[in-house]
Amino acid sequence: MGKTTTMLNALTIDLEDWYHPELVRSQLTLAEQEALVEQSTQPLLDLLREGNVKATFFIVGQVAQRHPRLIEALAAEGHELACHGMSHRPLWEMTPEEFRAELEDFDRVISAVVPGADIVGFRAPTFSLDNRTRWALDVLAEFGYKYDASLFPMRTPLYGMDGCPLMPYHPSKEDLARPDDHGALIEFPMSVWTGAGLRLPVSGGFYLRAMPFSLVRLCLRQIAAQRPVVIYVHPWEANPYTPRLQLPFWARLATYYNIGAVLPRLRTLLKVFPFAPMRIVLEELGELKG
Ligand SMILES: [Zn+2]
Repeated sequence: MGKTTTMLNALTIDLEDWYHPELVRSQLTLAEQEALVEQSTQPLLDLLREGNVKATFFIVGQVAQRHPRLIEALAAEGHELACHGMSHRPLWEMTPEEFRAELEDFDRVISAVVPGADIVGFRAPTFSLDNRTRWALDVLAEFGYKYDASLFPMRTPLYGMDGCPLMPYHPSKEDLARPDDHGALIEFPMSVWTGAGLRLPVSGGFYLRAMPFSLVRLCLRQIAAQRPVVIYVHPWEANPYTPRLQLPFWARLATYYNIGAVLPRLRTLLKVFPFAPMRIVLEELGELKG
C-alpha cells in the first residue's frame, strides 16, 4: 500500500486521562480518579516508534504534574509538546483571568519537567473555542503561543462553529470565522470532509472510531488531496481497560463506542499518510518560521 500524498499531515494526541473527557469529568470525585494515562499512552508510543512518526502531544497540565516521567519520555523521543490546559476545563467555563492562571500553572509545571521547553501550540479542551470564547486567542498570544488547534469547523451538539475556513488561517478578533492577516495567532482547524454542501467530521475521537473504516480512509484521502489532515486521538481511546462509567446512552456511545478500533486504525493510517507534528506541518506551509 503506497503513500497517497506527499503533503505532510498533522498527527495530534490529546494527552489526558480517562476521567478528563467532558461527559465523564462531572461524574467523578477526585478520589475515584485512578491514574491510567501511562498505561494508556504506552501502546501509542510503541506504535509511533514502530512507524518512526513524531506527533504533537497536547498535554493536560495535571497529567504532567502527576506523571513527569511520561512527559520527559515524550520530549526525549522528539515529539512536540503543546498545551491542552491545566485542568481540562473548557474555555466557556473560565474567565480570561482564570485562563491566564491555568496557562501560568501549565508553564510552571512543564518548565519544571522539561526545562526550556519551547511550547507554541494550544488546543482547548472539548474544542471549546468559538465566538463566545474568542478572547482566548489574545490571552494565548500574550503567553507567546503561535498557533491554536481548537476550532472544530462545524457545529456539533457539544462544540464547533459553522462557516470557518478549513486551511490554517489568522482569525479576526471580532469573528473567528473571518480571516484577518493582522490576527496574532494561526488557527489550524480540525479536518472535516466536505461535499454536497455538507461538512462531515472523520479524523478523530468518536468519528474515527465509529465510522466504517473504508469510509474514513476515503474521506481522509480526499481531504489530504486538498489540505493537510489533522488526526486527533486520546490515550484512553487506545486502552481496552478504560473504565466505562454508567453514563446516559448518548454520552456512553460518544465516549466509549468502538474503543478497540483506534490502535489498528491508526496503525493503518500511519502506513498510508505521511505524518508530522503540527508545528512542522505549519512550517512546511510557510505559516510558522522554523
Ligand atoms: Zn481533551
